[in-house]
Amino acid sequence: DTDSDLIRGRVVSVHGLKVRVIGDDGRRYECAVRQLLKSLSTDQRHVVVAGDRVMLRAESPQDGMIESVLPRRGVLSRTSRGKQHVIVANVDYVLIIASVARPSLKPALIDRFLLTAAQCEIQPIIVFNKCDLIDPMRIQPMVGVYASMGYRTLMVSAETEWNIDPLRALLTGKQAVLAGQSGVGKSSLLNRIQPGLGLAVGEVSDDNDKGRHTTTASRLIPTDGGGAVFDTPGIRQFQLWNIEANEVGGLMPDFRPYVSSCRYPDCLHLTETDCAVKDAVADARIDARRYDAYCHLLEEDLLPQ
Ligand code: GDP
Ligand code: ZN
Repeated sequence: DTDSDLIRGRVVSVHGLKVRVIGDDGRRYECAVRQLLKSLSTDQRHVVVAGDRVMLRAESPQDGMIESVLPRRGVLSRTSRGKQHVIVANVDYVLIIASVARPSLKPALIDRFLLTAAQCEIQPIIVFNKCDLIDPMRIQPMVGVYASMGYRTLMVSAETEWNIDPLRALLTGKQAVLAGQSGVGKSSLLNRIQPGLGLAVGEVSDDNDKGRHTTTASRLIPTDGGGAVFDTPGIRQFQLWNIEANEVGGLMPDFRPYVSSCRYPDCLHLTETDCAVKDAVADARIDARRYDAYCHLLEEDLLPQ
């Protein structure tokens, strides 16, 4: 009974005391967590989370005991009442999937996802899907705005497989979490990235332009080179988590160069005078659409009505 009996694995999901792990041996294990590990942890609820790399001892071909959790990097977490709640560990990318038509493009939603990624300090990749439905030149200016801020962007089509290879290459050996509203083509893209997966694809109804199909289970989709995409219902539509109105500007790369030049240090860039952000919007150094979405977000969601 030595360390050589230990198998490395990746945590798919945690349901109460049951931890589902895919071992590097390709097997799926249902695991418990060694009591000692729990007593050593200061954070009882997050001893093990999805995305964790663990060492387990197989107790049968499908049961195991988690003996240790390897050090984490890039955690997707939410802070509430001053406590950090880790949701997925070892995340390299937040994969933001948008659709350019059916359902129509919603840049304000992309902006929100970007804020959450910035808050968690995880690199986002913005994927514009369904480019077969429009002339890609039409959205190029908007894609350019994101690219000029330093974000990685990709225009693709799951339907025609246009630009799927570069997307697959980006994800090789990486762990990503999936974000994007229903119907934008998340399952279709994953099926293209990893042929043979056979994920169910939903319908988009013509009348309300919304996806009908919703997947409710947490999924881990293995990708090339030992990578994985996590698709978890709670994250897929992830909302802004405990973000303060006065933090937002600093999390936006296009606003950031200006925020410290405003007259008032607590400037929200709304109605204040001598605001460097508003000056930058006025002479188009900041995209007007981005600023509108920012105002809308603060006024609708973050400031007392
Ligand atoms: P999800 O809810 O985000 O997982 O979206 P699905 O993958 O289920 O796709 C929703 C609908 O959009 C399905 O009818 C797909 O066939 C369609 N769809 C997905 N990707 C594309 C694409 O690139 N082009 C077109 N025209 N339709 C697509
Ligand atoms: Zn300002």
